[in-house]
Amino acid sequence: MTDPSGPAKVECRQIAELLADYLEGSLPQSVKELIDWHIEACGPCVAFVNTYRGTVNAATKLRDVEIPSELKQRLLNVLRSSRSSAR
Ligand SMILES: [Zn+2]
Repeated sequence: MTDPSGPAKVECRQIAELLADYLEGSLPQSVKELIDWHIEACGPCVAFVNTYRGTVNAATKLRDVEIPSELKQRLLNVLRSSRSSAR
């Protein structure tokens, strides 16, 4: 991918770096379009986006799960004690 007029104008590495923001929709429209355009012409990036989407979905599902308050309290205690012992 060395053709400067092709999708390589945006490097796959850059796509990977911007992907989180891209999927969140927090990128400027111009950048978003550039990524859209790159992905359309770049198989590896399509696969990457799909994988990433799957990861995000899994993470979202995980976040929806309520942590039992007892467990949360225990976690907080562990965090507090580890923080104070770190001093
Ligand atoms: Zn790519």
